[in-house]
Amino acid sequence: MTYESAPLLAALAGATEDRIFYDLAGIESRYDTLRAELPGVAVRFAMKACPVDEVLTRLAQKGAGIDGASPRELRQALRAGVPVERTHYGNTVKSDRDIAEAHRLGVRDFVTDSVEDLAAIAAHAPGARVFCRLATSGEGALWGLSHKFGCPPADAVRILEAARGMGLTPSGLSVHVGSQQMTADAWHHAVECLADVLTALARRGIVLDHVNLGGGLPAMGYLDRYGRPLDPPLDKIFAVVREGMRHLRKVHGEHLAFVMEPGRHLVADHGAVRAHVARLAERRRPDGEHQYWLYLSCGKFNGLYEMDALQYPLRFPTHHGGAHVPAVVAGPTCDSDDAYPQGHALVQVPRELASGDPVWVLSSGAYAIGYTTQGFNGFAPLPYTCVGGARA
Ligand SMILES: *Cc1c(COP(=O)(O)O)cnc(C)c1O
Repeated sequence: MTYESAPLLAALAGATEDRIFYDLAGIESRYDTLRAELPGVAVRFAMKACPVDEVLTRLAQKGAGIDGASPRELRQALRAGVPVERTHYGNTVKSDRDIAEAHRLGVRDFVTDSVEDLAAIAAHAPGARVFCRLATSGEGALWGLSHKFGCPPADAVRILEAARGMGLTPSGLSVHVGSQQMTADAWHHAVECLADVLTALARRGIVLDHVNLGGGLPAMGYLDRYGRPLDPPLDKIFAVVREGMRHLRKVHGEHLAFVMEPGRHLVADHGAVRAHVARLAERRRPDGEHQYWLYLSCGKFNGLYEMDALQYPLRFPTHHGGAHVPAVVAGPTCDSDDAYPQGHALVQVPRELASGDPVWVLSSGAYAIGYTTQGFNGFAPLPYTCVGGARA
């Protein structure tokens, strides 16, 4: 299913220049749905997915916190009105100075996956609450995140035991099953792993009070490699997470509190880019075959960072009907990664597209603003506007 909210479509239709729009009411309603599907789960929005003040403020007003990855992110969230007790430092990579600064800001929850980082937390954020991140396989996700983050179960036990010895509070375990995770199984495996580590910790007299189930919940509006809706099994994922929580509480105590750090899921479908056609060109490949290329004004470096990995629904509002041709879709810069993924089927585009015609890129609200360059090749960052502003 593609996501075309009325406020977003109205904003896109009214735009005469390139811009990204966020539908605040849409983001709020996605948050409400998530809270209803997973009762009792505290949401810490992974703000890197959309570091926009208005979004942070509105989510904070609804009761959400944030997952921050640097002192600068944490400061932005605090300025936008997120209460400090609903923030945590979720990045396992941090310098001494980063830790000290977060501690000065009042942040008390830190995620770690190494003894070195743990010792630095003990030194620069004395008394902090520590979460240890477990590695996952990342299977089933578009971005696995398995290589850089997390430790095996035995190391998690060792790290949380060491935390206790250093005067820190061992508070929780965290996982991230990989971004745009398409399988419910990934959460099932994560819960099994969490249960094993909780058991091993309990044997050593360490009882945690939190489990952080991470991000990874999918956006619903992307297309697959053939241009069909991706349709992630969201209901099944929610059911598996609910069952996992029930199981963990039954075995390890009803006191266990759950946190999730969705990023993409909350914002992707409620953001859309108004771009324009730079050129539709018919080119000959080295093997002599003809191929259409649709060059957009926006691409990997100015708003569509993930365009080389996934396919967004495109709309051509000035061309209804008429002849269509299959085209490779690409951004405007001199970088060959600035294009839809190789191996994806071509996108049907109107044959009569002219330079300057508007193109709407739907479900493009995640990882747009933060990943944009300062103007690679002179293509300026996209300005943004929030719509759906009126709060009931
Ligand atoms: C990026 C990130 C998230 C959010 O991931 P999504 O796939 O966008 O939900 C959550 N937690 C951590 C630690 C992250 O780095």
